[in-house]
Amino acid sequence: MIIIFFGPPGAGKGTQASLTAKTLKIPHLSTGDILRDKLLDQDTLSIKLKKLMDSGNLVSDDILNEIIANRLKLPDCQGGFVLDGYPRTMSQKIFLIDFLESHDLSISKIIDLVIDEKIIIYRIKSRSNIENRLDDREEIIKTRMVKYIEETKPLFKYFRSKYPNDYHIIDGDQDIEKIQDDILKIVKNEDFQP
Ligand code: AMP
Repeated sequence: MIIIFFGPPGAGKGTQASLTAKTLKIPHLSTGDILRDKLLDQDTLSIKLKKLMDSGNLVSDDILNEIIANRLKLPDCQGGFVLDGYPRTMSQKIFLIDFLESHDLSISKIIDLVIDEKIIIYRIKSRSNIENRLDDREEIIKTRMVKYIEETKPLFKYFRSKYPNDYHIIDGDQDIEKIQDDILKIVKNEDFQP
């Protein structure tokens, strides 16, 4: 089963993607987490990445596409996976669709978490106090929102028209448990692929 999560920063996408992956016993592929891991290398590339991420800007499509292609080829992804934070741009979408088609794979469900911008700002501010993520500072949140609106939202039209029955909009302003319940109901309606 292949599931894609969409949602603005602070919508709870990471939490929901992780819970869903755990229940389905498939890997949770968060490109944000993978990139944050890379920062630990402290090499020239990671210094560049850190600059972009701390400012709320997107990392280049080439880097992301390579990360995803390498990750999806690993054996643990052969029974399915949950994508969280990818694709985020038109070029990443094209790369992903090509990759899936050439490997005879298809997307099972798309979960689009929707939430009011004011709630997002409040949520991210409280998260930044706990996790101390530099990119959760209030002035950076705006850049991340703009990137989401300009780069990621335009992808929805494609996914909604290509997967009309599997594209699900979920209200992200509910308890974590209720959102997860809604998602699992959607996901369990589907035949599991071996
Ligand atoms: P996230 O944890 O998903 O909010 O990602 C944190 C940061 O990592 C983003 O603000 C971007 O700088 C970078 N990032 C994560 N995923 C992508 C992606 N698919 N394309 C470009 N940049 C990304």
